[in-house]
Amino acid sequence: MTAEILTSACPLDCPDACSLEVRVEDGRVVKVDGSHLNPVTDGYICAKVRRTPEHLYGPERLLHPCRRVGPRGSGEYQAISWDEALDLAAEKLREARERWGGESILPFCYGGSNGLLTQDANDGRLFRRLGASRLARTVCAAATGRAAIGLYGKMAGVALPDFRHSRLIVLWGVNPSASGIHLVPHIQEAQKAGARLVVIDPRRTPLAKKADLHLAPRPGGDLAIALAAIRWFFEEGQADLAFLAEHATGWEELRRRALPWTVERAAEASAVPAGEIEAFIRLYAASSPAVIRTGWGMERNRNGGSAVAAALALPAVAGKFGVRGGGYTMSNSGVWNLDTAAAMGEPEPATRTINMNRLGETLLERADPPVQVLFVYNCNPLATMPNQEKVRRGLAREDLFTVVFDQVWTDSARVADLVLPATHFLEHSDVVRGYGSYALYRTRPVVAPAGEARSNLEVFAELLHRLGLARPGDLETADELTAALVRPSERVRTELERDGMAVPDCGAMPVQFVDAFPLTADHKIHLVPEALDREAPLGIYGFQADPVTERYPLALISPATGRTISSTLGQLVRDQIPVEIHPDDAAPRGISAGDVVRVWNDLGEVRVAARLNADLRPGVVFLPKGLWSHNTLSGTTANAVAPDTFTDLGQGACFNDARVEVERVPS
Ligand code: SF4
Repeated sequence: MTAEILTSACPLDCPDACSLEVRVEDGRVVKVDGSHLNPVTDGYICAKVRRTPEHLYGPERLLHPCRRVGPRGSGEYQAISWDEALDLAAEKLREARERWGGESILPFCYGGSNGLLTQDANDGRLFRRLGASRLARTVCAAATGRAAIGLYGKMAGVALPDFRHSRLIVLWGVNPSASGIHLVPHIQEAQKAGARLVVIDPRRTPLAKKADLHLAPRPGGDLAIALAAIRWFFEEGQADLAFLAEHATGWEELRRRALPWTVERAAEASAVPAGEIEAFIRLYAASSPAVIRTGWGMERNRNGGSAVAAALALPAVAGKFGVRGGGYTMSNSGVWNLDTAAAMGEPEPATRTINMNRLGETLLERADPPVQVLFVYNCNPLATMPNQEKVRRGLAREDLFTVVFDQVWTDSARVADLVLPATHFLEHSDVVRGYGSYALYRTRPVVAPAGEARSNLEVFAELLHRLGLARPGDLETADELTAALVRPSERVRTELERDGMAVPDCGAMPVQFVDAFPLTADHKIHLVPEALDREAPLGIYGFQADPVTERYPLALISPATGRTISSTLGQLVRDQIPVEIHPDDAAPRGISAGDVVRVWNDLGEVRVAARLNADLRPGVVFLPKGLWSHNTLSGTTANAVAPDTFTDLGQGACFNDARVEVERVPS
């Protein structure tokens, strides 16, 4: 037997970007563990990625190109050669373009592999040259991205290890025990040293149980709490006016907009007792360094963009920057000086943009032109997009040709016309960038691809050639594309080659307003950015009421769990997943633990068992994000009842605006 330990890095859609050690025996991955190369992730990884060998070699792994031969959804596929598969894909793309125009082609991808070569490289070049519809990738981080960039222009956030210097940590709409786990030990260390912890989340999460204060708003109520805090600082004479005068624009307007938001009004809008909101504000005012870690849970409702903006405005208003462990952490993906345009090698065409959150509507109702070829990669839309029943009906269209290029038989692959086997990140080269930890890696394959799997780079380059769209000088290989990506920074290139990992120009432990400053045009914080103000339906910081109705009184939330990364690895979660409901909501509905229930609204329904959970706030029910059809009795998931409405900023998804009723299904 041959055995070796090789290095890699995790590109999955998680902030931490762990450095990895991979044990390979006889050409197969047998164990994946953390390495110490990245000091933030420091030798340990999550349980999800420890299951990589099962993912690589399990029965769901796609090993050969397949063509559908039975009715859609019947699961009848026939293995074909790559030559046949690529010819078929090229023929369908060519046909659609000639008959309907390039916009009848819709590439559909998001986050299934966050590697920088696996998305927006050869794939982007192909679809741009085809004149395909452009995809607005808004299912996650659209509202947070708009808010953070609008206010700070992607300023680097507080590094995770610096949380140990904080005297107050606020976790707002984020559950690091399930995702982004490497923050947890730094929080624990800070608490041991006397730091206080506040958690704002509709659930009593594991860290909320250890917090000094837990605020449990109804989804969408976070904005009211943040505005009440902003008002309090100004009205109590506690706002750092000197800092605002020097570093911010729009603070007078922000103050005006926050003025109506008394603590009492915020209590009514968020359903959090006024005493708790005031206790949070006073604790924040009294603590320094104080850090706010905003998560993606806060954005998943109609007020999401403004809520994130208001939470990110707080450290500016309260004067919390300029010290180690003080400020905020959101996404750090924008701090890297990388030339992604060069890697793509083709300017963006002015073709129509399709918002991915409206996939169902697009497939069923758009006629200008209709989508004729849907090319899905790094994504499982049937599991992850809102208004799931509409997506299902759209994918069932007989005249639609769907390609799914993935590593395993996902729900979406099972209704595709052509299924292509993709390599896993341990089987191809990539460039991996963290958006929590400050780490960039160049990774190389540690094993040969399983079966006939091919990388995104290979397949999209081949399609460019078959369609006659390749041009002399195109960058195609991983080495060429990596060189183009890192060309703006000689230092990053050297560190990658020498150490296998690089840090950004601001360093791995930037202090906000010491090492990292707003990357807006004037390097100031824009507290009421004009563009965002125009975009939000009620202007930025405008509060939209809860969409609750008498018929659908319960708010369904669908946060991440520790078992999948979005829907990635969902094939390994083989059990049925219950909906969690507070005992006070279960009792009047005659629901007991283990009963089969129907969670429903006008969009659809999910049938699952019920689990009683007193850690939820009453009025809120919980069914995890990332489930697949095999996880429920109905084959539908939380997204079947999630609306395809948009967040106030960024046209993001409003999963947590699902308002539902739950009833017992008679046995
Ligand atoms: S998913 Fe996150 S925690 Fe798990 S191995 Fe990847 S980067 Fe690390």
